[in-house]
Amino acid sequence: MGKQSEALLQFQHCLTLNSNFHAAQCEIKRILTNDASPLPGTVVELKSDVSQNLKGSNSGKELTSFVSFEEESLQDLKKKREICLEELDPDDNQAACATPECLKKKSITGFSVKKEGDLEEGASTDTTRVKSIRDCQPDFGGLLSTSDLECSLCIRLFFEPVTTPCGHTFCKECVERCLDHRPNCPLCKQSLREYLRAGKYNITVLLEELMKAVFPSQLAERKLIHQAEMAELSNLTKNIPIFVCTMSFPGIVCPLHVFEPRYRLMMRRCQDTGTKMFGMCMYEHGKSFADYGCMLEIQKIVFLPDGRSLVDTIGKRRFRVLRRGHRDGYNTADIEYLEDEKVEGQELAELQSLHDYTYQLTQRFYEDGDATSRRLLMHHGPLPEKEEDIQASPDGPVWCWWLISILPLDLTRKLTIFSDTSLKARLTQLKHILNVIVESRDYSS
Ligand SMILES: [Zn+2]
Ligand SMILES: [Zn+2]
Repeated sequence: MGKQSEALLQFQHCLTLNSNFHAAQCEIKRILTNDASPLPGTVVELKSDVSQNLKGSNSGKELTSFVSFEEESLQDLKKKREICLEELDPDDNQAACATPECLKKKSITGFSVKKEGDLEEGASTDTTRVKSIRDCQPDFGGLLSTSDLECSLCIRLFFEPVTTPCGHTFCKECVERCLDHRPNCPLCKQSLREYLRAGKYNITVLLEELMKAVFPSQLAERKLIHQAEMAELSNLTKNIPIFVCTMSFPGIVCPLHVFEPRYRLMMRRCQDTGTKMFGMCMYEHGKSFADYGCMLEIQKIVFLPDGRSLVDTIGKRRFRVLRRGHRDGYNTADIEYLEDEKVEGQELAELQSLHDYTYQLTQRFYEDGDATSRRLLMHHGPLPEKEEDIQASPDGPVWCWWLISILPLDLTRKLTIFSDTSLKARLTQLKHILNVIVESRDYSS
């Protein structure tokens, strides 16, 4: 906030409480060595700040340290800053050739190791603060703060940093999200079309090594946050990603052309979390998407040079939407999976014969169709085989879904059949529809 003198006093306060508080030492050094920031204006200002700071605090220890601070004249501080800056130069060269091991050592020793010469120089004053100011031996902890290693897109410590051809660095995930929208660097606007086309986001190894060496705990914390985010994204009942597009069915393939930025992000997340799953729902007016949908599993993704992708998926389980939500521009939902009711004994025998009869009808429909419907069938593949146990899958036999997906029915009607958890009801509906179609064919021929 530019309040350098207040900041200086607060950090000094910290050092009074704990003379080994490394972060406060670093900040004091930063303030005093940073040319761009003005030093505390006058001793009077400092005194008034001190008196404010002392209000309500009568600790003699604090008083001593603050009084000694007041004794420092502005000229002294400025002189010290010059000394600090002179000392920075030679050590900068050392820093440039530092190995990770060397960096580690530096960050550990930091301010606690003092130069002998400095100790002598500082003998005239005896407060911790002045010693720490004099003790301007640069180390990475002091030269580099976590804010220097922050991604300008997510304002957090870099995670898997990648550097674009224009020289800017971002988290891998952040730059990918930017490129979903436009192929330009978010900072300098330089075209990254070729970078996107190559599709290779290699980690900037040196930067990652540097973070490991200088900010190991912060990096570990950042990794934990990332893991927590991944775990949340992997949940397959709470806040699952919903692709709002078409109706899909268990066991039936569903090829997708992904071009919208939000769905590019969704596909990438499904890959990154390893679930490879997302929900597919059709659009429904007034609800943003229908109450029922099908989980799709990604089988193959082909990325096109401009970031679009062709995604082969296959339908898995049916689900009912319990609650709708949003995440990063796409829809999400809490869901429960649907499961067909199971029957036994006589009921099962009846169900089996209904099943066999409807399957026969379907075979007739498939084999006797005219040229148009045959083309349609070729597009959707052959009729799936009958299944040994018609109740084995919670969604019933796949061939029913194959038939429903190709039947020329109103989508609302399809959704009603889709949401029904009675195999008997589904087969009965299909039997009626097939009878009507087959009869009308017989009639027209
Ligand atoms: Zn980022
Ligand atoms: Zn750039």
